[in-house]
Amino acid sequence: MKKLLLFLSFICINLFAGEVNVYSSRHYSTDKILYDMFEKETGIKVNVINDKPDALIKKIELEGKDTPADVFITVGAGDIYNAKKSGILQSVHSHVIQDNVPTNFRDKDGYWTALSYRARVLIYNPEKVSVNELSTYEDLANPKWKGRVLTRSSSSSYNKHLIAFLLVKDGEKETREWAKGLVKNFARDPQGNDRAQAVAVLKGVGDVAIMNSYYMGKMSIDKNPDQNEAFKKLKLFFPNQKDGGTHINISAAGVTKYAKNKENAIKFIEFLTTVKAQESISNDNFEYPVNKMAKTNELVKSWGEFKISNIDFEAFGKKLTEAKFIADEASWK
Ligand code: FE
Repeated sequence: MKKLLLFLSFICINLFAGEVNVYSSRHYSTDKILYDMFEKETGIKVNVINDKPDALIKKIELEGKDTPADVFITVGAGDIYNAKKSGILQSVHSHVIQDNVPTNFRDKDGYWTALSYRARVLIYNPEKVSVNELSTYEDLANPKWKGRVLTRSSSSSYNKHLIAFLLVKDGEKETREWAKGLVKNFARDPQGNDRAQAVAVLKGVGDVAIMNSYYMGKMSIDKNPDQNEAFKKLKLFFPNQKDGGTHINISAAGVTKYAKNKENAIKFIEFLTTVKAQESISNDNFEYPVNKMAKTNELVKSWGEFKISNIDFEAFGKKLTEAKFIADEASWK
């Protein structure tokens, strides 16, 4: 009887609390932990559709006022910038978000907030590379690295953002030259994802790889023995520490313009910025929390404190198209 009453009250809460529909381009199975935490805490059902950011923005645009989407989540400053620019988001003013997320990690007009960040780092084999040889992203175009650099295709959002970042930092002319020099130094034609580059360093295909920081954490728990060994043998380096700081990118969320469940959407995004959700993002996906009160995962913390570039996310978010042009011109596959 007691169980039945509990079950009925759960159903009532669910009916009353309603739902929130999320279109997300985050590709991490660990996000299910966050959705479950939110459902358990609020009774609000989380429905998720996953796809690439461009496809989701297009979908929301085509659905127009009838869109079921209440929340748009993406990875990449350029993609959240595009979402805002395309008019699919609405401005939200939430004291919870304002308290949890520092100003530099939020849109100035309230259209989005970052949920986490990750650094684009260098991964190297300490048996082949001395840490003193490493310095900046720009240095990877130096002929001393000929045949030693590994990175994925330029069609990857992560690399497009890196090029866009350098465009803002160093200007167009220098970045064009950089891309050409980098391509000349490739150990092989770009292939595979970020983790494949680390495994290639492990196998001696090249000496240094460009990779997102959280993949080092993911490799530490991966069942694939190569990835596990790559995690154990390779080291992580934060570039540009004496040159403005390392490039970081954000995962971000916003409420859609025609959200039917606006209140739930705000509650959901607020929840994602709370200490417990932020600590789950860091512990389960090895990202950096944006909420300063949240503890960073111990392994992630063990990589050390580092200087983050203070270049504005929107500034390089605007440069993705130009970044693609530069990569094509340099024949970066
Ligand atoms: Fe990723």
